[in-house]
Amino acid sequence: MSDIQKFSELNLIAPIARAVAKEGYETPTPIQARCIPHLLEGRDLLGCAQTGTGKTAAFALPVLQGLEKSNANKRNIRALIMTPTRELAAQIDESFRTYGKYLSLTSTVIFGGVSQFRQEKALKRRPDILVATPGRLLDLMGQKLVNLSHLEYFILDEADRMLDMGFIHDVRRVIDVLPAKRQSLFFSATMPPAVATLAKRMLTDPVRVGVAAQATTVERIAQTLLYVDKDNKRKLLRTLLQDSTVGRALVFSRTKHGADRICKQIACKKVTAGAIHGDKSQNARTRALEDFRGGKLRVLVATDIAARGIDVDGITHVINFDLPNEPESYVHRIGRTARAGRDGTAISFCSGDELDYLRDIERIIKQKIPVDLDHDFHSEDASKGLEDGLPAENPGKRQARERVERARLRREARGDKPARRKSQRPSANAARSKGQSKGQSATAAPAKSRRRRRPARR
Ligand code: AMP
Repeated sequence: MSDIQKFSELNLIAPIARAVAKEGYETPTPIQARCIPHLLEGRDLLGCAQTGTGKTAAFALPVLQGLEKSNANKRNIRALIMTPTRELAAQIDESFRTYGKYLSLTSTVIFGGVSQFRQEKALKRRPDILVATPGRLLDLMGQKLVNLSHLEYFILDEADRMLDMGFIHDVRRVIDVLPAKRQSLFFSATMPPAVATLAKRMLTDPVRVGVAAQATTVERIAQTLLYVDKDNKRKLLRTLLQDSTVGRALVFSRTKHGADRICKQIACKKVTAGAIHGDKSQNARTRALEDFRGGKLRVLVATDIAARGIDVDGITHVINFDLPNEPESYVHRIGRTARAGRDGTAISFCSGDELDYLRDIERIIKQKIPVDLDHDFHSEDASKGLEDGLPAENPGKRQARERVERARLRREARGDKPARRKSQRPSANAARSKGQSKGQSATAAPAKSRRRRRPARR
């Protein structure tokens, strides 16, 4: 079935084929060629695919066709697509509208972070297709504003991200109330055991597509690694953005605060920049995304969660200002470029404290990222894991240590004696078990000592 070369071989009905042609799609992407025939036959599907592969059309086209052909249950929600983020939900809804523009089907999208008023009104118009994030969906189901008893298609998108974001329980609650007779599609970029268990529970005799492509890096992306001292990252970014080949750049920051700061630091006449992260209102996020999509912003600075599923055509560069602490995020991040058959560039900054993250990333992409030594801010220290000539501590560990230290100072300020004793005890234990000398700091190994204490409680 994967030999399919043209949309005309997919047996799509004329109005859908017309919409696809209008979008300028000539050849189905591999995931489309492999999924669509099975889905048109009514099979359940387990798809291992990232965004950027054409996954949305792979499920939207056959679902639209199935809905158009089926006469039962009209004026009810017949297809539900559940996805982790608001941006992705809005994009999927948009895709359904685009591919279904010559059909009489209707679609609506619901997500949290905005008033439910308009969504309520849209639901009252009884759409055929509902795209939703889990929290708002459960909310509106609880208010009896969403009735899923006539559902024919259920699509769970980005299941691994649902797990990462703590939505898996909500997802199970939704699945539990769906009609047993339905066609189910399950998509995930990676398949950790908890995700595989959920898939097993949700699907009946599924076709498996693209499973071999677990977390591999998109091949058309030119990746480079730049060693740089932390303090020079901002200057390096500014220099890179002066290059006119950087048409539209998505810059990733590990923290929300960092995203705002980077945005302020780089914004100038030549570099129009906006930030998108979880602390921004939904309206601000939508506006920034629209401005980026429309070309008003040349640079969008984002955190991982906010950028999940960003589908903006023509992103020429993804720049990792910070390396992600979850290696899978690297694959998701760089997949924002080189979409729809184009090439793309991913540039990653690596300071001395990020070498652990780099190792994890290279392990999962199964390759070394080529290093560019020929830039103005190259740092040999960073490449050796040093910062100011001293061994650098990775940000995760540093934050954990700082949290413990802050908590200790707060307790001391309150004069909270029992709590202080508690914090001293494990250090003393750790020191004893490690044979540390008395002179060593009692706060030197708080994280380890906490771990050590747990088995003793059993
Ligand atoms: P997705 O993985 O669904 O987020 O799609 C990524 C991008 O590929 C979107 O911008 C789609 O418009 C585009 N796209 C999807 N299918 C095709 C196709 N067969 N040919 C060209 N572009 C496509």
